Amino acid sequence: MIFQCIKGVSYTGLTYPNSFCRLRVYCPKGGKPRPAPLQVGLLRSKKVAKVGFPKFVPQVDIRDSRSWFWRDGVDLPAIFAPLWQLLADEKALSEARSKGLHDYLGYNGEILLSTVMPDEMIDRLKTEDYFDLIKDLRPDAAMVPDNYTYTDVPLYQSWSQTIRLVNLANDFLDLDIPLIGLIKGADPHQIRWVIEKQVEMGYVSFAMPARELHREGLLKGWLRHVRQMLGGNHAMNNELLVYGVGQKLNGETHNMCYSNLSWFLEAKKSHCYKDGVFYEIIDPEIRYEECNCPACKGLMPQEIYDMRDRESELRILVVHNILDLANSLSR
Ligand SMILES: [Zn+2]
Repeated sequence: MIFQCIKGVSYTGLTYPNSFCRLRVYCPKGGKPRPAPLQVGLLRSKKVAKVGFPKFVPQVDIRDSRSWFWRDGVDLPAIFAPLWQLLADEKALSEARSKGLHDYLGYNGEILLSTVMPDEMIDRLKTEDYFDLIKDLRPDAAMVPDNYTYTDVPLYQSWSQTIRLVNLANDFLDLDIPLIGLIKGADPHQIRWVIEKQVEMGYVSFAMPARELHREGLLKGWLRHVRQMLGGNHAMNNELLVYGVGQKLNGETHNMCYSNLSWFLEAKKSHCYKDGVFYEIIDPEIRYEECNCPACKGLMPQEIYDMRDRESELRILVVHNILDLANSLSR
């Protein structure tokens, strides 16, 4: 693969679309020396508090207050706040650290801190950094630190990352807030192991970053495995949230929760949700259908489009989309 890469072939998740490559250690072109294999530490166990996910936990864009839906009168019980957005914005970070996330965002519901972040940022933070950030930001729950595993890299790489995730989940037991375990791995062995270890440590709430799997059409198969493994771990107490998928999945979705920012991202592209699926605002499927939600107030998408006012259109679509997703995902 590296030979092909040097010849100019791009691989999804490796050299494309990211400039950051996980195979650096194997690369004869400016590679770094290969580190010693990670070891699994002595794992502890504790009764980790359950988050109690609502069916739909919208993510917000911390840097774009147009996604702060509570300002538009929408009342939802919990949000995910992505840590990486703060790390990428020094000013926002220092303000959020001094006020705490609740005051910074002006949000009264539960704030769940998401550690899912771009690969190139993952290696920057150590356990102490996470602890300091969590102490200052004061979220109501926090996810264990993210890792990077890809199905098309050598297993050595993804096992190192998987072991790292389990070790960090072990460190996180020192925190006294509800914790969210992560379900990630490059193959079913890694997924099974990462779930087993976290369940043994006492984790009961889990998030599964699923955007790429969904895009590649692999999500349903993987979800079936994950649900079997979670159920098989004598824990009907476990809860599972699919992270990063912007539509309702068919079948096998009983008791599953969702989180995404799609309601906002799609609104920015003039896309309008109906029953958990998004359409272009002028799609014949929806354009002449009046909507009686508190944002549309009886308007049809065509009429919203005809306003020719991007800001008003965005305001309406943001609220319409989040309400549509909240309704269709809780059904
Ligand atoms: Zn509407």
